[in-house]
Amino acid sequence: MKTKLFKLSVAAGAALLAVGVQAQGFPAKPITLIVPFAAGGPTDKVARDLAEALRKPLNGATVVVDNAAGAGSTIGSAKAFRAPADGYTLLVAHIGMATTATLYRNPGFKYDEFEYLGMINEVPMVVVGKPGLAARNWSELSSWITQNKEKVNLANAGLGAASHLCGLMLQNALKTELTTVPYKGTAPAMTDLLGGQVDIMCDQTTNTTSQVEGGKIKAYAVTTAKRLGTPAVYKDLPTLQEAGFKDFDVSIWHGLYAPRGTPAAVVKTLNDALKAALKDPDFIRKQEALGAVVVNDARTNPAEHKKFVAAEVAKWGAVIKAAGQYAD
Ligand code: ASP
Repeated sequence: MKTKLFKLSVAAGAALLAVGVQAQGFPAKPITLIVPFAAGGPTDKVARDLAEALRKPLNGATVVVDNAAGAGSTIGSAKAFRAPADGYTLLVAHIGMATTATLYRNPGFKYDEFEYLGMINEVPMVVVGKPGLAARNWSELSSWITQNKEKVNLANAGLGAASHLCGLMLQNALKTELTTVPYKGTAPAMTDLLGGQVDIMCDQTTNTTSQVEGGKIKAYAVTTAKRLGTPAVYKDLPTLQEAGFKDFDVSIWHGLYAPRGTPAAVVKTLNDALKAALKDPDFIRKQEALGAVVVNDARTNPAEHKKFVAAEVAKWGAVIKAAGQYAD
């Protein structure tokens, strides 16, 4: 009995120690960041910038990106969920981590069973339209949408994507149902928007800024409660709240996750590296140029980020259920 008690307390002590201890010899090989959306889009952009910024705090380790796109992020997230829990396969996911909990009966992963490594950034969205639309502002665009609802197409990145959530809220606000066209990410959706194959989209500024700055497409409204100060090209855009849609406030976050069971010392090493990357001036500058805000608060800690995501599951779950879209 005594021996058993002793063994238990040694084990508990070792576990406690691991929480504050860096993993020796880690990383000893390249780390893969799984991106559950197509290359070139918002999630891919943050992941590639992060991969670069993680290099230095991880002692020069190679960090590569694996795009496992499809089904509104669930394919890639499920792939990361099943990966070996050794710290060499991580997931960069977004708000879909929270919305898929309501939208899918079985997305292939449990959002609360990942090891949380911390939150990365927050990104506003804007409503954009294809080139050549006659609408000059949001008021003209919203009238055009409602008057042509049978033929207007709304692109998104699949059930569970940020663009899906925003599009859902937009259709509710406009009291209209549009034809939605799902893609594996908003990078391919943007290609079709530029080509005029789809009409409108709600997308993160990380994907729209260069196109809007280049005059290729027009942005009509902002999804956040406050107007955007930067990038300058969005300065005069109204918020959807100003346009009369009370409570319309969507901001997209990204976080970093590891498979369940990743050793605590590896989690600690990765969290420390993430925190260092989030302070890297180059990473901050690149993100800010695209309208993203790098997180600089307690949510960069695993426990706080996990609490935040649980609150997001409840918040967006209620919105999705109210819109009648959920797995029973
Ligand atoms: N922007 C996409 C979304 O709507 C994600 C992506 O393509 O990275 O969720």
